[in-house]
Amino acid sequence: MKKRVAVLRGDGIGKEVTDAATAVLDSIGRRFHHEFEWVNGLLGGEAVDKAGQPLPEETIKICEESDAILLGAVGGPAWDNHPSHLRPERGLLQIRKHFELSVNLRPVQAFKSLLAVSPLKEEVAEGVDMMIVRELTGGLYFGEPSFHDNEKAVDTLVYAREEIERVVIHAFELAKQRRNKVTSVDKANVLESSKLWRKIVEEVAENYPEVEYEHMLVDAAAMKLITYPAAFDVVVTENMFGDILSDEASVITGSLGMLPSASLRADGFGMYEPIHGSAPDIAGQNIANPIGAILSAAMMLRSSFGMEQEASAVEKAVKSVLEDGYCTNEFKNIGRKVLSTREMTEKIINEIECEL
Ligand code: ATP
Ligand code: MG
Repeated sequence: MKKRVAVLRGDGIGKEVTDAATAVLDSIGRRFHHEFEWVNGLLGGEAVDKAGQPLPEETIKICEESDAILLGAVGGPAWDNHPSHLRPERGLLQIRKHFELSVNLRPVQAFKSLLAVSPLKEEVAEGVDMMIVRELTGGLYFGEPSFHDNEKAVDTLVYAREEIERVVIHAFELAKQRRNKVTSVDKANVLESSKLWRKIVEEVAENYPEVEYEHMLVDAAAMKLITYPAAFDVVVTENMFGDILSDEASVITGSLGMLPSASLRADGFGMYEPIHGSAPDIAGQNIANPIGAILSAAMMLRSSFGMEQEASAVEKAVKSVLEDGYCTNEFKNIGRKVLSTREMTEKIINEIECEL
């Protein structure tokens, strides 16, 4: 089966880790007899320099003609002083909006072999395996009116039933494929939007009798994420709570470089990217951890292409390389074997192809 993928490498280590991800998918192609066609598009700072805007028309066209989008990371000090319409991050917001990517998935897993670097005690971090499902195109980030002057500032939190429903349904569907548990996070003791959110969660839950669900206030959820994170399976929440909680949860793993994400449209079209940024401090040195990007590619196989076995093969390969004691530079202080970006990628590829 031939799949066409728009590859937006972006800036900084975005390029290095995306190259790693496509190399791994090529190896999946060899093992499982799929063909991936990579089509490169400009995004972010490089796009500003070469095409005068962070998300050029040409890039949108490439993405529209593809089956999925694989993205690296954007930004860097070179563009920090540009006016806001020429900031690299603007391109990301525009692409989410253009493709209506309203559901953001962030799995957070504690790898057994890296528990020592988690800021949590090993016994607390052990066994963490959750999926944070964040609503991405509504809420405070987009509500009108929104303004400030010297004396007053206004933000508006609006949610329509339909926006809540689609993300909540997505969460319950995911729970069915996992451990059948949904934690819905809100602030229903204060916010009107959270009251509607709760009501809709209860309605949706009626269609999923096999899934256990609970409501949790966001302040309580913030505490529980660091005291008892292994208790969570699927966590579903609105845009801003999701932004904050997913960053909080991401530290459990011990490195930003390990974590993937997916942003999906209602029909399943998706964009896949590691959660880390362009990390200008380590760009171009062949030391970035490519695992977040590689696991993002695995999410693409599963969510956009329905290739469950292939996605599992990638995840299994990553796990086994870590269990063999290998890691990238950011873990150098825990007495493990440090590999470069390309060496780590090769190890993962060897693991995938050793079964050929
Ligand atoms: P952005 O604003 O683009 O999200 P950020 O300020 O959140 O960026 P990142 O670029 O994500 O920062 O990275 C923060 C730091 O974490 C980097 O400076 C880098 O040292 C480290 N880091 C991030 N990603 C990786 C990776 N893949 N491998 C190794 N280290 C990483
Ligand atoms: Mg960041």
